Amino acid sequence: MTRRRVSVFGATGSIGGNTLDLIGRARDRFHVVALSGGRNVKLLAQLARDFDAEIAVTAHDECLPALRELLSGSAIACAAGEAALVEAAARPADWVMSAIVGHAGLAPGMAALQQGTTLALANKESLVTAGALLLATARSHGAKILPVDSEHSAVFQALIGEDIAAVERIIITASGGAFRDWPLGKMARATLADASSHPNWAMGQRITIDSASLFNKALELIETREFFGIPPDRIEPLIHPESMIHAMVGFVDGALMAHVGPPDMRHAIGFALNWPNRRTLPVARLDFAALGQFTFRAPDEVRYPALRLAREVMQAGGLSGAVFNAAKEQALDGFIAGQIGFLDMAGVVEDTLTRLAGDSVLRATMTLDSVAETDHLARIAAAEAIASRHTKGQA
Ligand code: NDP
Repeated sequence: MTRRRVSVFGATGSIGGNTLDLIGRARDRFHVVALSGGRNVKLLAQLARDFDAEIAVTAHDECLPALRELLSGSAIACAAGEAALVEAAARPADWVMSAIVGHAGLAPGMAALQQGTTLALANKESLVTAGALLLATARSHGAKILPVDSEHSAVFQALIGEDIAAVERIIITASGGAFRDWPLGKMARATLADASSHPNWAMGQRITIDSASLFNKALELIETREFFGIPPDRIEPLIHPESMIHAMVGFVDGALMAHVGPPDMRHAIGFALNWPNRRTLPVARLDFAALGQFTFRAPDEVRYPALRLAREVMQAGGLSGAVFNAAKEQALDGFIAGQIGFLDMAGVVEDTLTRLAGDSVLRATMTLDSVAETDHLARIAAAEAIASRHTKGQA
């Protein structure tokens, strides 16, 4: 049997680890082409050896000597930097997992699509910043994008065999994150440790904090709009603390298809890995009688302004998603570094969106370059917004 050639970008992260867990259980079916990581070169080298990868790439030039040393004596090639990531993504492969965190995931994902490779997309930031470009690239190169975010995988699965024109609404559920029961005043004083633990999902630190602010949900609303082409007013966020229903698709005849499963990313990853088939996956089977009940509540937009901002971005369209994502990433860095408080993150994003609203850069045609320029300008504006809040906070 010919083994499928697969690559994992962001192999040292949470999604990357879950992906390799599944690939490791079916080694006879997969050949690993490229693995990428960031600063954790020790883990990257270990994974590259375990999976006998063709090449291991670190995103950071300064990490290359250590990676080279760790892989010495093996036949595994190694490389570093953004261009090396793009080159590795362009290597012939059948399936590529895009699980780098943040804007850095966009260029390797595009490179894979340009080769006609199936792209399993966990990196939601790619769709938020450059959805139209990504989808057009997939179309023109005959490549398939498979969503890996659990909500979007759920919608994708609910839509199999359905006509998108018959979709009335899409409900994207949210656990509510670490602060779902916290009053606003307490959220304002939330520490990094408070925001870094998720009640239901085990994920990387950045997405965990984004879940506490619902910025993760905000990104997912935009991702839904981009991926499925549904108008913003038909995409509804819903708090569902148990995280068992990942999304629901409502049709014009009133039927609602819900995707239900335990909060384990290996389902969505495994679905994308095995698509268009289904294979046995090592995820827990739900016992509904033991679960008893599912609960729901409307999201509180006063505590979670990220949702309102996402709606504004969806209405504006074009490159405003790139502004939103860059400002959000910068604000998150500011919170992690202790420069701003938890609730300031939304303020920084809103200030940045307002500041760049009339900028000519937003009227440019969407290309990798214009997205990069927008990202750059938004980061500068967001850094200024952070500095001004930081100064006020100290006064
Ligand atoms: P992690 O933080 O756990 O992992 C991120 C990965 O990206 C690591 O391999 C990291 O390397 C690498 N990385 C970090 N910075 C860079 C950079 N500048 N250039 C290249 N690589 C870099 O993140 P997650 O696995 O949680 O998330 C990955 C993506 O998947 C995100 O877009 C997230 O939104 C999305 N996602 C995650 C889910 C989850 O359950 N975790 C669910 C749905 C979507 P290193 O650690 O070696 O520095």
